[in-house]
Amino acid sequence: MTDRDSEIEKYESLMALEPRETGEMSLESDIANFTRIVSLFCKVPIALMTLVGEDKVLVRSSIGMNECEIDRNESFCSHTVQGEGILEVKDTLEDERFSQLAAVRGDERIRYYAGAPLVTPDGRKIGALCILDHVPRQLTTRESDFIQTMSRQLMNLISLKESEQRLSDLFENVSDLIQSISPEGEIVWVNAKWRETLGYNQSELSSINIFDIIAPNCQQHFREVFQKLLKDDNVGIFNVSFIAKDGKFVRTEGRVNVRFEGRKPILMRGIFRDVTQEHANKKQSELFKQTLDRTFDAILMYEPENFRFIYANKSALKKTGHTMAELKMMRPWEIDAKIQPEQAQQMFHQLREGTQKSVVFETELCHKSGHTTEVEITLQYLSDDFSPRFIAIVRDITEQRKALLELKKAKNQAEEANQAKNRFLSRVSHELRTPLNSIIGFSKLLLMGNISGKEYENTERIHNSGTHLLELITDIMDISSMESDELKLNLETVDIHVILCSVRDLMKPQAEEAKAEISCLESEDKSLTLITDRRRLKQILINLVSNAIKYSGKDCLIKLYAQRFEDRLLIRVKDNGLGISNEKTQRLFTPFDRLDAERNMSETKGTGLGLAIVKKLAKTLGGDIAVISKLNEGSVFTVDLPTLPEVP
Ligand code: ADP
Repeated sequence: MTDRDSEIEKYESLMALEPRETGEMSLESDIANFTRIVSLFCKVPIALMTLVGEDKVLVRSSIGMNECEIDRNESFCSHTVQGEGILEVKDTLEDERFSQLAAVRGDERIRYYAGAPLVTPDGRKIGALCILDHVPRQLTTRESDFIQTMSRQLMNLISLKESEQRLSDLFENVSDLIQSISPEGEIVWVNAKWRETLGYNQSELSSINIFDIIAPNCQQHFREVFQKLLKDDNVGIFNVSFIAKDGKFVRTEGRVNVRFEGRKPILMRGIFRDVTQEHANKKQSELFKQTLDRTFDAILMYEPENFRFIYANKSALKKTGHTMAELKMMRPWEIDAKIQPEQAQQMFHQLREGTQKSVVFETELCHKSGHTTEVEITLQYLSDDFSPRFIAIVRDITEQRKALLELKKAKNQAEEANQAKNRFLSRVSHELRTPLNSIIGFSKLLLMGNISGKEYENTERIHNSGTHLLELITDIMDISSMESDELKLNLETVDIHVILCSVRDLMKPQAEEAKAEISCLESEDKSLTLITDRRRLKQILINLVSNAIKYSGKDCLIKLYAQRFEDRLLIRVKDNGLGISNEKTQRLFTPFDRLDAERNMSETKGTGLGLAIVKKLAKTLGGDIAVISKLNEGSVFTVDLPTLPEVP
């Protein structure tokens, strides 16, 4: 496309522009009016406005002719754009340049032409405004002046439209919100960005007053600004929040000036920038800063390159006694009483290389005045955004250290007191056993003697109570000796099957008395052995079997069996007796908690210490005990022991 053609195309598209507002005339209809007026004024049947291209002449507006496009060689206007001023051909047949044109020779029978060039502001002739007639004639001076004036006016109009289009393009496509408001607050005009940001369409605007869409918290300020502006006072840049159509607030920063006619305000032109996001970001970072400043821990950040501080929260400034300006000139080791620069740099290096995610260490933080604080520092390297940095969170551990020391002291004291109590209990229990054994022994002798009736009953009661008291004392002695770590273990290789059978045989009389049956199930693994304290293991199992008999009633079946699981040995005592409800199993191993008392079995003898002792013994042997039980169906107690001693 040649320069001429692209120029013509520009004007052509400009003329074809749709009117923007209803009622507004398009350039095309304005031009049509020009050609109409020219034909009327000069009293000719044909008037045209043409654009002259490289090969063609485009008829943009015509009166009395249907042609849209004429070959350049067949046109009068191509000559008009080459000459100066108006071109008049009084009789086309008399002019050899035109006498052979189709328009002259053909049906049109054009005998007269007069055209004035359309000249752009920079002097280029882009087309012509012309009149044509079927008879020869001559322009009067008034007609000639009129055509030339109209061609200039037409060009002015086109240029005006062009600059208006440029301006409108600018206004519509800027990223700011532009508005024209009447002094009464009516919205006169807004740009596309305004409509897009606030969501109101063109037709809605006519019914909106600017005060309707000002956020409630800005109303008063905006009214004050508005009044000042109407008085031509300078208000500078101000903030205002608009209410968008979806109800959201759009925060803006803007400037408004007023057009006055004389002293009367006519129009208020405002240009606003949407700062909603910017404001939210600012608030967020303020909140972030405030949060950091309010944290009790000192937070410091420094550059990874030269290790200079770039940020310190309030607590850090207080704990170091330095100002931010001072810290900016310092390096981390200058406020640390223990760490050497080489050590610090090695830590930073590890963090930056990613071999460690964070480093936690205890040190002493130096205050400007010379004193130090015991602290724990967590050091991290943040490289996830555009400015990598080290961050140190410094926690004052002075109180924590003090508390820890006091706790240790209190624990030692409590342990000492406990040992003393255990020693006392074990001594007292021992002393009690001698007279008790006499009571039990002599009451047994009396029972075997010649007594009956009330006498026998009372003696039996003495004997039973004595036996119960002895059990209690024995259990208490066991527990206190375990708590005071006086339990000595004799480790030996134990064949578990042999142990289970000996427990079964030992408990047989008690079982028979309760009409229960005990059996030992043989394991597939014939040689189940472990290294443990035989006597203590037996004590555990006797306790469990004794409970199974006590809490199972008649015709109960008690099974003893063992199995290996990896490097552990699981020994199980199973019964099909009373069972224990789920919520009570937690209490089983609590000393003196006798669940049976709540189950109307208070006549069953017991101290409530058996399972507590069993648990302690199992732990002392490096294992543990667990229970699975179902009320009224039975229980399985599992002693889990290491096959090789991990005895503490
Ligand atoms: P004691 O038998 O002297 O009461 P234990 O510590 O041995 O004390 O047991 C605590 C409680 O656990 C018992 O009072 C009983 O209610 C319950 N218990 C223990 N073993 C069994 C079992 N095999 N079946 C049902 N309940 C049991």
